[in-house]
Amino acid sequence: MIGAAAARHLAERGVSTMLIGPDEPASFDTDGPYSSHFDQGRVTRISAFVEPWSSWAAASITRYPEIAATSGLSFHDPVGLTVISQVADTAATVGQDQGAEVAAISLSDLARRTGITVTPDFGHEAIWEGAPAGVINPRVLVEAQTRCAELAGAAVIREAVDDLHDTDDGVELRGTFGSVTVDRVLLATGAYGADLAGVTLPIERRLRTILLAELDDGPDLPTMIINDPPHEKLEEAYWVPPVLFPNGRTLLKIGGDSIPKLTASSNEDIGAWFRGGGSEEEAQALLELLQSMLPERTITWHTHKPCVVTYPETGLPILDFVSDRVAVAVGGCGAAAKSSDEIGRLAGELVVPS
Ligand SMILES: Cc1cc2nc3c(=O)[nH]c(=O)nc-3n(C[C@H](O)[C@H](O)[C@H](O)COP(=O)(O)OP(=O)(O)OC[C@H]3O[C@@H](n4cnc5c(N)ncnc54)[C@H](O)[C@@H]3O)c2cc1C
Repeated sequence: MIGAAAARHLAERGVSTMLIGPDEPASFDTDGPYSSHFDQGRVTRISAFVEPWSSWAAASITRYPEIAATSGLSFHDPVGLTVISQVADTAATVGQDQGAEVAAISLSDLARRTGITVTPDFGHEAIWEGAPAGVINPRVLVEAQTRCAELAGAAVIREAVDDLHDTDDGVELRGTFGSVTVDRVLLATGAYGADLAGVTLPIERRLRTILLAELDDGPDLPTMIINDPPHEKLEEAYWVPPVLFPNGRTLLKIGGDSIPKLTASSNEDIGAWFRGGGSEEEAQALLELLQSMLPERTITWHTHKPCVVTYPETGLPILDFVSDRVAVAVGGCGAAAKSSDEIGRLAGELVVPS
């Protein structure tokens, strides 16, 4: 997501740009590389618990219409957001500072409007953020950014890089596509960090599971984030309301941070996690949380899938050079989809300042 955005910004600035990365694999039975965006929905919002996530989101969201218009691809549905937390007012204040239409909503009003039910025992409060908060489709956003980059003159190679090394002329990248030598490289390789450059970054790769659930008819739902949800195996959770998936089903996606957290210590662990299909136990916890928060709805079908998210120690992405010619933009902290356009722009400015 960040790499495609960086390529768009660089190409539109007139920088000679090549975007290299594989399409989503047809099945999860390979060694990868895998990504954090093989999905139909991501929460987009301006409210956030800390800066600069809010300002990055606001800057990115402002540019969604131009990306959609240039690419001809629609990826944003402003259905709104609720955040349920003991410190929801912090997210509201940070968001308001960046222009978000966000206000407190009582738990009883939230239940009346949406059917979302939270027991007050946990000390939760809720906020409601209106449009443009809602849902983006990360697959379509990546394709839209790629099309915009191509239209601005970028070359696109839809394959993985297997090897990267310095030569007298620049940096040589090799893969099944052959070999190219370039002046500078931006690695936006998600959970694979700076491994291609032989550099280990201080990042944690969290192996997560998402639950996809089909619901009976009911009130429209917003995107939702809950801290300290009422389930002992979940530290936080979020959902994206029902959207159409490639299997033809309209599914709500719910995910979160499980207790204990599962992490990858190698790229092989990531491959094994995707091939293994994720955690049944985490999926069960998510199912129980979903049922408890939507007690009036019936879950008519569900399945689960693996995913990976990348957390630097700072809680912010790492945008830096790791050698004279190679920079990185990695570490989305489970929150970079909505803000990938601005993070990509900043990464482009790092690699080739305007
Ligand atoms: C289940 C889930 C839910 C999430 N929910 C939200 C949300 O609601 N809102 C939000 O804003 N964010 C959310 N996120 C986080 C968001 O999706 C990530 O922060 C974002 O995808 C990170 O973008 P990225 O470009 O750093 O990495 P990725 O999207 O993972 O992209 C990395 C790319 O690098 C490529 N790559 C890796 N190795 C190579 C190689 N050797 N050669 C070439 N290419 C390579 C991969 O193929 C991939 O395309 C969620 C993440 C997950 C997994």
